[in-house]
Amino acid sequence: MTKYIFITGGVVSSVGKGITVASIGTILKSRQITVSVQKLDPYLNVDPGTMSPYQHGEVFVTQDGAETDLDLGNYERFIDVNLTADSNVTSGQIYSAVIAKERRGDFLGGTIQVVPHVTTEIKERFKKLAQKSQAEVVIIEVGGTVGDIEGQPFLEAIRQMRNDVGRDNVLYVHVTLLPYLTSTQELKTKPTQHSVNELRRIGIQPDIIICRSDYPISEGIRDKISLFCDVDRQAVIPLPTVSTIYEVPLVLEEEGLGQLVVDKLSLKAQPTDLSQWQELVTCLKAPREPVNIALVGKYVELKDAYFSVREALYHAALYHNRDINLIWVASEAVERDGSDALLRSAQGIIVPGGFGVRGIEGMIKAASYARNNEIPYLGLCLGMHVMVIEFARYALGSTEPNSTEFDASTPYPVIDLLPEQKNIENKGGTMRLGNYPCQLVQGSHAASAFGQSLVYERHRHRFEFNNQFRTRLGEAGMVYSGLSPDSRLVEVCELANHPWMVSCQFHPEFSSRPGRPHPLFRDFIGRAKDILREGAQPPLPLSPNL
Ligand code: GLN
Repeated sequence: MTKYIFITGGVVSSVGKGITVASIGTILKSRQITVSVQKLDPYLNVDPGTMSPYQHGEVFVTQDGAETDLDLGNYERFIDVNLTADSNVTSGQIYSAVIAKERRGDFLGGTIQVVPHVTTEIKERFKKLAQKSQAEVVIIEVGGTVGDIEGQPFLEAIRQMRNDVGRDNVLYVHVTLLPYLTSTQELKTKPTQHSVNELRRIGIQPDIIICRSDYPISEGIRDKISLFCDVDRQAVIPLPTVSTIYEVPLVLEEEGLGQLVVDKLSLKAQPTDLSQWQELVTCLKAPREPVNIALVGKYVELKDAYFSVREALYHAALYHNRDINLIWVASEAVERDGSDALLRSAQGIIVPGGFGVRGIEGMIKAASYARNNEIPYLGLCLGMHVMVIEFARYALGSTEPNSTEFDASTPYPVIDLLPEQKNIENKGGTMRLGNYPCQLVQGSHAASAFGQSLVYERHRHRFEFNNQFRTRLGEAGMVYSGLSPDSRLVEVCELANHPWMVSCQFHPEFSSRPGRPHPLFRDFIGRAKDILREGAQPPLPLSPNL
């Protein structure tokens, strides 16, 4: 029978609940326990696909094409599983399903209520994931903080689960923050007490409290939380801020969380083996020479908008025993101040995904800079469109080539809507989403990176390379190094006369893992690390005799 761990958050949001969930998954997996994960998002959108990155951060795409919360990316990277649409549940989905059932007449004669109809629908999503994944433990994170109005049906549903599946099969973990008062130089537990009280008011007594803090947590503080919140002392787990998120599983394991969960849920576990994580963290913390990578995007003020891209860069750098010095460049700033001012120290330039015309000309300038100065360039989805537009402007000797996303009346629509997108009116969930095959062309940078001829990659786009321009741009030096198996869609393109300018229509960042960087990111950093820019010095061999 599947056991459930429910994770709630208190005091403030953005306290690292997602990383904590991912880390609990890691420490259970290290004991050979199978796990699956689910994120409950209380907002009323059906999915985050239509939300601005400023509102929501990155939209993470699963293999089966669901547009989901970025926490799913952390779950995948930590637990090394490929999740599906079943792992992200929103209030929007729940209410849509309940209302659809009502219209169908499933509840004829009844009044539809939050309890039991909405809560039953929520619990069905838990059970569906348990059944489909066949995992021994399903870890479920309730988004937001305890006390949010939208979150209440989810909290009520997880409360009911204790009765539904039995007390021994359910564990409640509450993640809180201990704020630090500089004037008295102490950590405060009162907000944690209040948020546990709020949980209790709705009938949930946490079994474990994980306390985030930027400062060390004393034994006295643990005792106090244990006493006031009625939680075993060893179940008050301190989680001080660490330098890399990948260290969190090690910290939690060290504090005894793994054994505690195993005991409380009576799980059959093997001895824990976190040696690979230990190795990863040791490497991440060791001083490494940085590679300067400029990320030229539209939403750079909000780093979470590019969460997976940033992680994929770190994974790739680690492979080459290097660090990343990530230079965040607002594409509008490139329009204003020019490429040279902002990109002169970049050893590699990356243009990630995005939507809308704002900042596009700045990205095109950055691509032009990369092409003219032979700087390695990696374009992801929109970054490919940008590379194609820039190359077309150069090759056709005109400033007019564009994507019809940005200029509907351009005489050179080098990027255009996918034919199957032409009659689509609804914006939500209607892009070309999820895994599609890509056939690689031998002898190309892409083929040499992947080392295989057919790959499946995750997509999220409406626009594509316009085949009317294939021959002309091909003659000018663009190589179509990845195509859909029917050759209709350009999936990867690169430049013949450039050390490494490669772009893909898909999003490789979503499938990169800490010990297994995505091949395109790996080779991009592999090239970038050897580029010398202005002011940089080649590393000198250090001799003790000097
Ligand atoms: N806006 C482009 C499209 O819809 C690119 C999307 C993306 O970068 N994910 O095709």
